[in-house]
Amino acid sequence: MMVLIFAETQKGKFKKAAYELAYYGYQTAQALGTECAALVLGTAEGAEELGKYGASKVYHVTDTALDTFDSQAYTKVIAAAAEKAGANVVIVGHTSTGKSLLGRLAVRMNAGSVPAVNAIPTVEGGTFKVRKPVFSGKAFADYEVKSENKVLSLMGNSLQPQEVGEPASVEALDVEVPAAQVTVKEVKRMEGRTPLPEAELVVSAGRGMKGPENWGIIEELAETMGATTACSRPVADADWRPHHEHVGQTGVAIRPNLYFAIGISGAIQHLAGVNSSKTIVVINKDPEAPFFKAADYGVVGDLFDVVPRLNEAMKKFKA
Ligand code: FAD
Repeated sequence: MMVLIFAETQKGKFKKAAYELAYYGYQTAQALGTECAALVLGTAEGAEELGKYGASKVYHVTDTALDTFDSQAYTKVIAAAAEKAGANVVIVGHTSTGKSLLGRLAVRMNAGSVPAVNAIPTVEGGTFKVRKPVFSGKAFADYEVKSENKVLSLMGNSLQPQEVGEPASVEALDVEVPAAQVTVKEVKRMEGRTPLPEAELVVSAGRGMKGPENWGIIEELAETMGATTACSRPVADADWRPHHEHVGQTGVAIRPNLYFAIGISGAIQHLAGVNSSKTIVVINKDPEAPFFKAADYGVVGDLFDVVPRLNEAMKKFKA
């Protein structure tokens, strides 16, 4: 067995998720008694750094045609790279890119696939097993993968990447890159704040805000703190906030150092995506709001009173 992780880049740079995946691949390889290699596609800076998080080697397919994501081309290249590298366990991130690759890779590699895992696989009695949360994290299911090849996608923020080694050697891999089936005319990316999956400080708000016109106080607090904004699902569903801000079971899963939950009740589906945050601060006028049970600090009060005062205090603290 050999493990291969696919390390995603954005504009040629690695995201935090790539280091997490390298570390997860390393832990998986240790459990299977083998090594983990990383695969990098297209333009990428600092690929050797993946070695620090556990990739013993980095394979790089440098063709710049791969700078733009094309699921069919990526699938063919990753499957061919896995074959060349002798890898039979391929792990991608459970990102929008990874989600569109998982099924295609499974078909192409004739592999058993398990999406959205968050635990290190084990081998028991020769059988490969991996655990994943089900029912909004209320239960776990153990999956046995009996096929020779296996593909997994790792839930973001499942584990904290640790440095375990030295920078790895990077080997250019000669794999045929098929012509793209899709022509991407333009890619517009959000500039400014740290993307939600990578953010260490998050200010999140829910239906307690009453309407989108009131979000100024959330934006101001986030600005003062240098934080990224997030929201509950009904808020995104009502178009009060963009969908990429929605956190929870059906949204983005995050693991920041500090999570402010403002006017959010703390439903299990919301908590499923945020309860790994290091410190949770809840502001809610209802002392019985379920979120207080998951909070490290709680303020019972009207958010329209508390948040502006908190912002003023933060500004003084920063000055
Ligand atoms: P509410 O439940 O309406 O809570 C608003 C809170 O604001 C209340 O606690 C209230 O006391 C407080 N409040 C009101 N006014 C003020 C004030 N002036 N000052 C202070 N506090 C105030 N939800 C998600 O968030 N993410 C998900 O991924 C997600 N996935 C789901 C998947 C499924 C299959 C289902 C069925 C549901 C899912 N939900 C998800 C929805 C979830 O169950 C809740 O309905 C949702 O999280 C509630 O959002 P909320 O807390 O913003 O709103």
